[in-house]
Formats: sequence, structure tokens, C-alpha cells
Amino acid sequence: MTAAVDFDQAIHDAARLLRRSTHAIALVGAGLSAESGIPTYRGTGGLWTKFGEPTIDGWDLFLTDPALWWREALDGRHAESAFAKAIDSASPNPGHHALAELEHMGRLAHIITQNIDDLHRKAGSRHITEIHGNRFLVRCTNCGGRDRLSTISLDRIPPLCPECGGILKNDTVMFGEPIPQDALHECYRQTSMTDLFLSIGTSAVVYPAADFPVMAKRRGAPLIEINPEETPLSEIADVVIRASAGQALPAVVELLHQEL
Ligand code: NAD
Ligand code: ZN
Repeated sequence: MTAAVDFDQAIHDAARLLRRSTHAIALVGAGLSAESGIPTYRGTGGLWTKFGEPTIDGWDLFLTDPALWWREALDGRHAESAFAKAIDSASPNPGHHALAELEHMGRLAHIITQNIDDLHRKAGSRHITEIHGNRFLVRCTNCGGRDRLSTISLDRIPPLCPECGGILKNDTVMFGEPIPQDALHECYRQTSMTDLFLSIGTSAVVYPAADFPVMAKRRGAPLIEINPEETPLSEIADVVIRASAGQALPAVVELLHQEL
């Protein structure tokens, strides 16, 4: 069989499963945003594949001196600032738009994203859990409340929560930092409800996110994987689309539209 036939067949199979499901959810990783110009960590061309994994314990550094962390962040002195610039100038790509369209069509109930880039919201998706936070938000280390970074006062460093006076940090989950309880709870809730799981552009090696598709599959939900490269999920997936998300997702949406 040629690759093109495999692709067409996989798109058909994915559309068929989406048509049958009543609560499909997607776990999304950095691969979805690769076509928006944001580098992934792992996989071909990934930042860590090229430069090795960082060992920095960001959460410990933040706790030790939140004011220093904020001053360095505002001065653009953090190691990840080139990565942050790529996120700041990025726009949603056809993959993000297709996911938003699936939600509007009533075919996708929820997105669990590992991405911090805000591109789902920019594309028009509404039901999103950002398990690793959002670069454009701040979160209170005391009450967990979130605000847009652009709306808080930076006259005082570290900035304080307008609700409870706790220290604010960037919402992005740092190395060593526990995943916020509200986000984690919603991920488990969605995973326990789903009857179709899509894994899109994730290397599926970062926990706890990598567990969600396995848990859903164990409960009987079929699994669709969209990734140009093999992952640990590939062998348990019911449908594997070996293509970029920007190519695969619009093709699935088009097929669903044709068959309405
Ligand atoms: P990852 O970097 O570990 O893996 C990326 C995966 O995407 C790989 O399996 C790769 O084969 C696949 N991929 C590459 N291009 C693709 C494409 N066009 N379409 C579909 N798939 C493609 O990413 P991860 O699994 O999300 O885990 C890394 C962590 O790093 C995440 O937890 C996330 O918080 C963070 N991160 C976020 C961003 C972002 O916000 N855009 C970017 C990089 C890393
Ligand atoms: Zn607070």
C-alpha cells in the first residue's frame, strides 16, 4: 500500500470514529504548534533533541527568590527567552483551526493541551484544560486564581494577588512544580468520561499526561494518534495518522463536512 492510500484510509477511519462518538477528547502536545513556528522539545528538530535536556529546577529557583525570578523574566534574561519570543509572535495554524471547528461541529468535547502558547483559544476553541499552564496568564501561589499577565500591576515585584495577597507567578508549570489541582482534576474527569481519545503531536512521555490515553483506552475508548513519528502510544492506537497535525486535522474535518 502507498503512503497516500494509508493516509486516506486513516483519515476515513478517524472520521468514522468521530462520527460515532459522543464525548471525544484530544490530548495535544507541542507538535500541533510546530507548524506555527514554535519548536518542539523532542522529536526531529526538537530543542532538547538538538541541545539536550535542561536540568534547571525552575520551581525551586522561583520559591527561593520570587522577586529575582520576576526581575529576570521582565528583563528577558531567562534561558527560554528565544522560545518565548517564538510563542509571542505565533498564530494558530490549520491544525488549531480544525480542532476549533470540530468543537463547533459538536464532534470534540474537550482539549487537554500540554502547550502553553494560547493558540487553541486564539483559534476559537473554548473547552480547554492547559495542564502545563499558559504563558500569558499569572497564577496565585496561594489561592490558585488566574489573571491575564497584561492586566496585573507590575509596580511591585513580585506582584501580589488582588484577591488574597499571595505571590503571583507565571501560570506556566515550572520544572519541579506540581500540576495545579484544578487542571489535573479536570483532566481525570474528562478521561473518565470520554468514548474516543485523540493524541495529537505529543511524544507521550511526559507524565501524567501520557497516562490519560492509556487510561481511556483501558476503559474501552478507541485511540487515534496523529504524529509524523512513532511514539509509545502507536502500538496501542486503533488509528494512526502518520502526518503532521496541520495536514491531518483539516482533512478529517473536510470529510466530516462532506458526509453531513
Ligand atoms: P514534545 O516536544 O515532547 O514532542 C513533540 C511531538 O510532536 C513529537 O512526538 C513529534 O514527533 C511531534 N510532531 C512534530 N511535528 C509535528 C506536527 N507538525 N504535527 C504533529 N506532530 C508533530 O512535546 P510534548 O509531548 O507536548 O511534551 C513537551 C512539553 O514541552 C509539554 O509538556 C509542553 O508543556 C512543553 N512545550 C510546549 C510548547 C508550546 O506551548 N507550543 C512547545 C514546546 C514544548
Ligand atoms: Zn490569591
